[in-house]
Amino acid sequence: MSITLMLMWDYDTPTGFAVSSLSRQADPLSDYACTDRILELLARHGIVSTFACVGVAAESGPLPVHNPAQIRAIHAAGHEVASHSHRHELIPALNRPQLIETGRISKVALEDCIGAEVAGFVPPWNRPFHHPRRLAISTKDLRAGGWHWQHSVSSLCEALAECGYYWVRVLYTPVHEQIARKLWPGRARAIRPTTIDCYSGVYTLRLNYLGYDDQLINWLAAYQGQNIPGQDLALVIYAHPHGIEHRNSQHWEHLARFTRWYSEHKDAYNITFTTPAKWLRRQSAGRLLAHPA
Ligand SMILES: [Zn+2]
Repeated sequence: MSITLMLMWDYDTPTGFAVSSLSRQADPLSDYACTDRILELLARHGIVSTFACVGVAAESGPLPVHNPAQIRAIHAAGHEVASHSHRHELIPALNRPQLIETGRISKVALEDCIGAEVAGFVPPWNRPFHHPRRLAISTKDLRAGGWHWQHSVSSLCEALAECGYYWVRVLYTPVHEQIARKLWPGRARAIRPTTIDCYSGVYTLRLNYLGYDDQLINWLAAYQGQNIPGQDLALVIYAHPHGIEHRNSQHWEHLARFTRWYSEHKDAYNITFTTPAKWLRRQSAGRLLAHPA
């Protein structure tokens, strides 16, 4: 059995901080300084990850709004660059032309910056949560989108396909999981492989975990302990570069411990880090998926 980890960073930059109540007070340069530290640490452990960047940061112009040099450095270090929209827009509040515009202009800005294809999209705030085809009903998205028009995971995919993306990170909670969480709030959530679906030719990667703290290490160790032959676990985890300064599961101490733990156990546990574009290509080569666009 093997464990494949896809670590994603939501590279919000001051454009994202400005619209996020949690980060509005953040130092405008914090994502950049933290990214330098993260890149150095990941390189030391041979870890590849994915940076979902707001498109405007890739455009040329002064700091702190723009930092194309760092996005080029991220790409040059072997990490995948994905779009995090152009200006960190709330997707359920956009109409379809607005959604296609932010998808397109961020993709063009990032591709012009790194000189390579941008295949993935990470929606700000992980919205929409609404995904009726997987029995996930979100009234929060209904309020944001208004009753006249509304996005779901599949309508987002349909718009992203038109922009030329072929993967998207998604977060949703099916009704039966919502009920289970209400009934047993203290119960630890089980780790399970990410769910891959495909709508309009865009693969959805369901998010599994925020951060890389001891709970994740314990989960992975327990999963490995079950030793299910032939079972391959793929997990999508995410954090924010400036999150390494926050006292939560994204903190630098957790990241340093997790990367050390990975280096010590990667061979025995058969753990690899990869990026969605590489992983989807490998799955399609193994005929588990149709070939990505
Ligand atoms: Zn964000």
